Amino acid sequence: MPKTVVSFYCDDTNPYVAPPSAFATFLDFVRDEGIAGESTVLLGYEASSKGLLSRPGSDVERSYINQLKRAYSCGIDTHMELMTHGGLFDFAENRIPVDAIHEGVWLFEPGVSVDEYESYFSHIIGEGERIGIRFTGLTQPGCGCAACVSRHRQLSEQGATETNPNMHRALLNLAKRGRFRGKTVPMFIGSGGDVCAARAVAAEGGCAVYDLPPNATDWLGLWLNAADKVDPDYYISEDGQVGRIVDSVRAKAQYCIFYAHWQGLNPANGVGWNAFKTVVHRIGKHLSNEVIWQRPSAYTDGLCVGRTA
Ligand SMILES: [Zn+2]
Repeated sequence: MPKTVVSFYCDDTNPYVAPPSAFATFLDFVRDEGIAGESTVLLGYEASSKGLLSRPGSDVERSYINQLKRAYSCGIDTHMELMTHGGLFDFAENRIPVDAIHEGVWLFEPGVSVDEYESYFSHIIGEGERIGIRFTGLTQPGCGCAACVSRHRQLSEQGATETNPNMHRALLNLAKRGRFRGKTVPMFIGSGGDVCAARAVAAEGGCAVYDLPPNATDWLGLWLNAADKVDPDYYISEDGQVGRIVDSVRAKAQYCIFYAHWQGLNPANGVGWNAFKTVVHRIGKHLSNEVIWQRPSAYTDGLCVGRTA
């Protein structure tokens, strides 16, 4: 009997909204429960005020980096949520220009070349290598600012509703050169729908880039860390009979991937942490024979092995 893969993405992870010890607690829990998922690394999240995490300037940052190095062995993949989760970073000038386009919408810009994307991603990977961090995939940094909303609307009117294929090619080129941890690169673009829609967007020479959208949403507090956005029953009820993950298993879905945000998920001050633990324990109690926890890149590695074209 094929099992439904269960996994998750955790966006916005950083050492500033919660202390590094919170990330250690999260990793310990994932390891001890034998679950798996992904958590982003943002090397330039506070670039304007704190510089780059890859050039640590405080004990908080050094302590957090030590935890990041444990993540993969605990079952956690590492996506780049690009560099800053804000403006495009200027690596030559080591700053974010004031008029910089935001990284999320830049992934959709039709005029950007393979070389431009490849150079930008290569710089991020290089900064990770400085501190011993290897990336497994890419998450689009979502942004609701007026400029991004307006530009997305314009692009949509022009038919550019999907990420630029040059971006996919750049990721593939980097994977082929061994710059990512594995041979496949999963992407989390947009906020996903409710169906399994994994698809290869670029593939060559045993390497591939996959759009791997989540098919369950965030009821673990969102980036707002909002208590009224927490509901473990959305995923699986206490008796294990209903919920998004239960429905996916009953429908024999290939996967159920949910997503969360570090602001709400973190064990230090996240309103969703107890709900997350509850969901994991309920899955273990009611669905352990029907699901398998897997890192996103392990899932796409499996798809790539199964490719016939
Ligand atoms: Zn924006």
